[in-house]
Amino acid sequence: MKKKLTSLFLLFALIISFIPAGADAHPGRTDSKGGHTCRTNCAKWGLEDGEYHYHNSDGTIKRTNTTTETKSTTTEKKDKSTKKVDSKATEIVLPKKQTSGTLQVYFFDVDQGDSTLIITPKNQYILIDGGNNDQGKNVVKYLTHLGVKTLDVMIATHPDADHIGGLDDVLKALDVKQVFAPKVQHNTQTFEDFLTAVKNEGRTIKTAKAGVSLELEGIEAEFLSPVNDYGNNLNDWSAVLKVTYNETSFLFAGDAEYAAEKDMLAEDSDLKADVLKIGHHGSKTSTSKAFADAVSPKYAIISVGKNSYGHPDSGILARLKNINATAYRTDKQGTITAVSDGKKITLVTTKQLK
Ligand SMILES: [Zn+2]
Ligand SMILES: [Zn+2]
Repeated sequence: MKKKLTSLFLLFALIISFIPAGADAHPGRTDSKGGHTCRTNCAKWGLEDGEYHYHNSDGTIKRTNTTTETKSTTTEKKDKSTKKVDSKATEIVLPKKQTSGTLQVYFFDVDQGDSTLIITPKNQYILIDGGNNDQGKNVVKYLTHLGVKTLDVMIATHPDADHIGGLDDVLKALDVKQVFAPKVQHNTQTFEDFLTAVKNEGRTIKTAKAGVSLELEGIEAEFLSPVNDYGNNLNDWSAVLKVTYNETSFLFAGDAEYAAEKDMLAEDSDLKADVLKIGHHGSKTSTSKAFADAVSPKYAIISVGKNSYGHPDSGILARLKNINATAYRTDKQGTITAVSDGKKITLVTTKQLK
């Protein structure tokens, strides 16, 4: 009997020695998720009473907060896209911040989609589009890297996911003073997420349409489109912005297609620009010959990634060549930065053409 007791005691001592340090010191059972809720002496462990947490193998405690818990369970779709981002997030190459006092335009590499940041000579910030849902975190990374804390203006060119998908992440991460979008709705979760994020930021959407100007210092910025109602063609609803800084100018065409281009031409607005952000990722449904001729850009920026639509179209690339516009592509050159000192424009890219 005594022998039996001794061996039992030894066995018990053996078990005790295998329990990692810290695990016995903090009572509570782990649940199916691998963590548990703190009930006693929580402050001692750096936890709030009732706080859900995990124990790491090294005895340290991993805190979670209840708000992220609920968020990740209610927006399952978002959660998936976030996971996708994490793998992509490491791949992005951050552009170099250019000298203040210039007009800087960063055409971010957001794969298939659009996202462009304008920094004015007076350090005001305008973001046009935020890429797809899975690019939102990257856009926030680009913006914070470039020192943006507050956006003076956010423009959602049109409700397609490859333009507005990431904007909710931007609205959550940064202060946004004004939001502009064309007066058109879209029945998607992505569009709803955008509207909710704008509302949570305490903003109402201002209408982007031909003739509306942005109030900015030292530069002119005016919408040239939409001119009309384009029904179900979301691309033609695109807010098209023209920015002029002294002798230099930029035209950001969103996904505007032929019908919108035709209306802009008919409006007799000054379409001429040194830099053209090509409409609809270089699709053959945009950049008609008449439009390309009227803008006659020196530089044509194509924001494009891997896609099954055939963007950019070879005919459009040939058209740009014919008008002596040098084409830059985000899929090949990464983020493209155009810098204007008011007289001349220089371009830099994060990747070199192979
Ligand atoms: Zn579109
Ligand atoms: Zn698009």
